[in-house]
Amino acid sequence: MVIVKAPDFNNLIKLINDIKDKESVYVALEPASTVAALPRLVCDYCGGPINGSPITYKRGRRVYYVCCRTCLRELKRKLHAV
Ligand SMILES: [Zn+2]
Repeated sequence: MVIVKAPDFNNLIKLINDIKDKESVYVALEPASTVAALPRLVCDYCGGPINGSPITYKRGRRVYYVCCRTCLRELKRKLHAV
């Protein structure tokens, strides 16, 4: 059993993706956030909430999540500019 802790949902997903041979994943929330809805993914480009299934973009070992095609295009542009 492996317990990972992350400051936000995006980081948690990234950590989970890095764990090999996982059988099942359980997500626990901090007591303070149980009132709020389920944690949502946040767009890595604009920071807005992602409703429904996110668009994922893999670059190297990192996985980015974006809310729409426009953010995907802009994120790619930003990443390739670096
Ligand atoms: Zn966005």
